[in-house]
Amino acid sequence: MDAIKINRLDPGFCKEIEDKMLQEDKKANINYCLSCTTCATNCPFNDVHSNMYPRIFMRKLILGMKEDIFKDPFVWNCTACGCCTMTCPMGINIAAIVRTTRGEINYAKGFDFFHKLFYRGILSHQERLKIVGALVSFYDRSGARWMLRKSGVLNAFEKIKNMENILPLGLKPSLRSQLSKILKQVDQHKFKIGYFAGCATNTFFSEIGKAAILYLQHRGCQVEIPEIQCCGGPHRSAGDLQEAKRLAKDNLEIFLKGEFDYIISDCATCGSTLKEYQALFKNDHAMKKKAQQFSEKILDLNKFIVDFLYCDENLNILNKKVTYHDPCHLARGLEVTKEPRELLKSIPGVQFIEMKDADWCCGGAGSYCFTQQEMSAKILAVKITNFIETGAEVLATSCPACTMQLSAGLRKKGIKADVKHPVQILAESSGVIR
Ligand code: SF4
Ligand code: SF4
Repeated sequence: MDAIKINRLDPGFCKEIEDKMLQEDKKANINYCLSCTTCATNCPFNDVHSNMYPRIFMRKLILGMKEDIFKDPFVWNCTACGCCTMTCPMGINIAAIVRTTRGEINYAKGFDFFHKLFYRGILSHQERLKIVGALVSFYDRSGARWMLRKSGVLNAFEKIKNMENILPLGLKPSLRSQLSKILKQVDQHKFKIGYFAGCATNTFFSEIGKAAILYLQHRGCQVEIPEIQCCGGPHRSAGDLQEAKRLAKDNLEIFLKGEFDYIISDCATCGSTLKEYQALFKNDHAMKKKAQQFSEKILDLNKFIVDFLYCDENLNILNKKVTYHDPCHLARGLEVTKEPRELLKSIPGVQFIEMKDADWCCGGAGSYCFTQQEMSAKILAVKITNFIETGAEVLATSCPACTMQLSAGLRKKGIKADVKHPVQILAESSGVIR
């Protein structure tokens, strides 16, 4: 095995591989990995494409085939869901390696037009995303959407048609525009909460943020919503670490000033990104320390409610059959899986039905549903089939990106079912929203 050399693409690029395979006592791991197929049988992408990825990617990596890796579409086909890591006997984090590879490619070739426009131009600025939200809302409510669909014009532009299908329907005003009516002073509060209202919650799913804030206040929490731009998660996934760091620095500054007991997020992507800020500042001791302090306060909304607010409060009966989809960033990023289920099961009248492969990626994966439409649709179809088998009428999940993707999948199949965050169902049962 000594003949096999890993050509480091960049210092630290394959550190994970080096740590797990190149140390003197671990070289047998190279042989093991070259003959193993476990990750390929636990990968949603391979499940619909049957091409033995990601193990082929691992093989290329081990053999140092830099040119091949840079040209390999798998680098962009991977949803970075982390399913493979859970079953890899060596715990190799392929999603992290893929993200690093994307960064290397971007660094070598420069960012493409889509990245500059979508990630840096829009996602980095909530005000601009709000304009996008307003345009989507106008498009939907003015009848333009109905007319375009009826006319069949969109059929000539398949990619645009697919993107249009994913856009949410019936948008409510942004969360920030409603804050003066929602936020209130809570005297003798139990916790001071800094609520991280991410881009998708603020712009596309303000009803999730509204339900969360009203419920938290109802349970004695003082909630504040600092002005932020983006958690940086989409940029990190796309391999734009420079922008991810810039956004992280701003968020650290803003939230640490607030002296909150906890920083809560309803979005799996935001929550896991915030929790992992330290990794962005490996070589900056001062920032790393701040990120560590910050990370200790980050909690997923379901977990916060279950761990700190649970009691036998009077909840109204909601007769609903509910199932739950685990967002990748919540299940594998923050390792929160039991709390959303516990929360749902505690609501009187809710009949909870577990879905097959509930923690399998839905194919949303941030912008993946826009950029890798074919793969995304195939992965989504598997999820929707599993949902139909449960017979549930509500598909609960804890990530706005998953909500958008799952809603589009249900619409495409003509299935009338609600996609909701568990807190929306809880808030309804407690009477704080209707
Ligand atoms: S991160 Fe997900 S999509 Fe990517 S290789 Fe692993 S299992 Fe497959
Ligand atoms: S599961 Fe792990 S050890 Fe097996 S091929 Fe994949 S990366 Fe290598």
